[in-house]
Amino acid sequence: MKSKGLVVLTILVILGSGFTYAKEPYTMELMDDLDISIDENIYLDGIYPEIKFDTENGVMDAHISYDFVNNGSNKINFNTNDGLKIKSLKVNGKDLAYQKNKNKSVIEVSIPDVEKINIEIIYSGKVKCDKDGVGGSMPGYISRESIYLLEVSNWIFRPLVAEADMIDICGHYIAPDYLTMVVPGKLVDVETIDGNKKWIFEYSSHTVDIGAFAARYEKTQIEVNNMTIEFYYTPKHKEYVDNMKIAEHIKGIMEYYVQNIGEYYSNEYPLKIAEVSIYKRGGHSSENVITFSENTINRDISMYSILNKNGDIEDLWKVDIYADDLNLIAHEMAHQWWGTGVNVIKDTPWSSEGLANYFSYKYIQKEFGDMVSSNVFLGAWKRRVDELKNYYYIKNDDMKEKLNEKFIKSLEMEKRKAELYYLMPLKFVKEEEIQGEKVFLEGIQGVYRRHLLKDLTYDDFLQEMNLTKGPLKLKSLFPGLVAVPGKLKVL
Ligand SMILES: [Zn+2]
Repeated sequence: MKSKGLVVLTILVILGSGFTYAKEPYTMELMDDLDISIDENIYLDGIYPEIKFDTENGVMDAHISYDFVNNGSNKINFNTNDGLKIKSLKVNGKDLAYQKNKNKSVIEVSIPDVEKINIEIIYSGKVKCDKDGVGGSMPGYISRESIYLLEVSNWIFRPLVAEADMIDICGHYIAPDYLTMVVPGKLVDVETIDGNKKWIFEYSSHTVDIGAFAARYEKTQIEVNNMTIEFYYTPKHKEYVDNMKIAEHIKGIMEYYVQNIGEYYSNEYPLKIAEVSIYKRGGHSSENVITFSENTINRDISMYSILNKNGDIEDLWKVDIYADDLNLIAHEMAHQWWGTGVNVIKDTPWSSEGLANYFSYKYIQKEFGDMVSSNVFLGAWKRRVDELKNYYYIKNDDMKEKLNEKFIKSLEMEKRKAELYYLMPLKFVKEEEIQGEKVFLEGIQGVYRRHLLKDLTYDDFLQEMNLTKGPLKLKSLFPGLVAVPGKLKVL
């Protein structure tokens, strides 16, 4: 009896582990920015995606047409997703064989020596996520209740070529009719076909970074200064959204940025803000669409006591959670100015993240006062920077050789994150104290105006802000940080 029981148990364990393995996240290794080389001899002019989502099976069918202008290349590399299999590939109307680079998700497509190149690719399958990114930066999934696809997953195969100043994007997404899709650019029309809805959109864009998001959404339209914000959230969270005045804050953030940075980059495309699943923590911004994770507006009703009847802060105990949640939305919205509006060229510690964090902090400071904004943001940033600055393996660089490679990589990531997200905005705050808020913000408004729909480098910024000395000039990172007196008190 005993041994029989053991045999049964062993079989169950084996079966169980088999099932567990089958349920493992469906992943691949996404490429680092560093590994990507862009062919400058050819540029992308237009992209026309037609996508159908099968939410029942978690798969998609894609038919994508790309237009290029070729100035002397004989091939185009595409960054693809391992989960999506190519069914056909045509170059200027002719079927073509393609080569897959070994161990990489890049395909190489030969092209003729002519100026106008059109490539049509039909592919389908289940999007694979980044092996190291599940949870933290999950770039995509298709499920019955929601769809979340970010550009980083290459769910739309990405040609590794230069981009035209404005890329013509138009196409459609098809999904079951109970889902509301949030499309990039402008929604042109919605057609209902056999239990599905076809969401037709068009967009003139300076990048190909488009995503696709869908859920059973409620939509609130917010009108601010002649432009429209579309706010999509699940009806389950409507009561919280109303009680905690989330839409009012979104409007307030928009007004604050327009006043202190400049006009929203477009009056043709509405800003779309969508609540998304907790599978993707934090937020995201690309083109005119931003997302934030559901936990932001899915808090306990005891949070209601933070605000009194007039919507003013009454209870300081939980205000840090509320400020942090609003900060996430404010951070992603700030990327519409620094990221979409102005293309901030990354040069660590300089990137759009520092500017986004500085401006979301400024909004929280205006709304909640110095005490909350200093504690929740400045204090936390300063502590993290100090912690890393004093960290043994950062201070003793030569000791790193003895460490595991993965650990070094994660340490580097943490260090870079602290530089981009915390050190840089701390430098802005310091510079603001030196120049005075009014002068500093006017300087930034000028930079925004001059670089709208253009690139902005660190050197441009330093020069135009007259920052030939002072904390922002210091490119050397941790040693250059100066504490901000009076602003870093911790309760
Ligand atoms: Zn950001």
